[in-house]
Amino acid sequence: MEKSQLINLIGIPEARLKATLAEWGIAPYRALQVLNWIYNYQVERFDEMTNLSKDLRGRLARHYYVELPKIAEQTFSKDGTIKYLFDLANGSQVESVWMPDKKRNTLCISTQVGCRLACSFCLTGTLGLKGNLSTAEIIGQYMAVNRELPKVDQITNIVFMGMGEPLDNYQPVCEALRLMTSPRAMRISNRRITLSTAGLVDKIEQFKNENLPVNLAISLNATEDSTRNEIMPINKKYPIRVLLDCLRSYPLKPTRRITFEYVLLKGINDTPGDAKRLAKLLHGIPSKINLIPFNGFAESDYQAPAEAAILAFQKYLLSKNYSVFIRKNRGTDILGACGQLAARSFKETSVTVSS
Ligand code: SF4
Repeated sequence: MEKSQLINLIGIPEARLKATLAEWGIAPYRALQVLNWIYNYQVERFDEMTNLSKDLRGRLARHYYVELPKIAEQTFSKDGTIKYLFDLANGSQVESVWMPDKKRNTLCISTQVGCRLACSFCLTGTLGLKGNLSTAEIIGQYMAVNRELPKVDQITNIVFMGMGEPLDNYQPVCEALRLMTSPRAMRISNRRITLSTAGLVDKIEQFKNENLPVNLAISLNATEDSTRNEIMPINKKYPIRVLLDCLRSYPLKPTRRITFEYVLLKGINDTPGDAKRLAKLLHGIPSKINLIPFNGFAESDYQAPAEAAILAFQKYLLSKNYSVFIRKNRGTDILGACGQLAARSFKETSVTVSS
């Protein structure tokens, strides 16, 4: 059978696999055995799934294949960060970034090729939306990188903060999260996964009902609509108040908080007035604030504030009893930091991006 007529088994929801096996007259527990082979033993050939009958293995092989996205290139930063460039089946490319730290190894994964939200401080946003990743391509980034890494460096945490707006690719992202956190599939604790959104309020409302209690991060980046409209055009559709009101009823588990990401742009959103407004806006929402000094790229005129301004911003919020962290820039020398991902396809078809 031609491969083009087969389906990648990676990313297929458990319920769908069970339904297919049921049509074949096969008991549902066989689906769980298949998931176990794929996600825990990382087996890619059906004839290695030795607890399945020969007949079932043959049948699976006639309908499915198992394939991870291909790592086309790895770029190493002097701070230990590794950027992975993936070739997708349709010829597009996306990037993931692995960031080692003392206590955790975090993988930042992509959900779209490019992004339609056009935030002005983000290189991905300059691409426009080129396409959505499938569930297989989303979880495949994690599986492919982990397969490359030595045991000691295995990924402990996943952040959906790479290329794309995760909630703009809603169904594949939810299916990826379900497989990642399922005890019958990838078995990753939902506490170790963070979904970041620029604030698609209609999709956050929908996500509230998915029963996927992963961490939620909001890319806020401004305290006034006039500024946020400028730097994040999505704010014209969902202004700050509307976004925060939606978050006030977000079904957080006890002790969990919503993370607010705040990219600090010199002279734009870094004033003492901004710090004051931010403290007021987040009042009543269980919050954690990550301050991210802007990571430059060639096409951008923005700059990071001076260190003293960043520290003063943090100090004010700390004085209002918020947990506030200044996020270290990781992988800036390889364009691997927040807002710098654009994949080689962009560099080849547009102006040169200097690192
Ligand atoms: S910051 Fe996120 S949502 Fe905004 S353009 Fe970049 S990838 Fe898209």
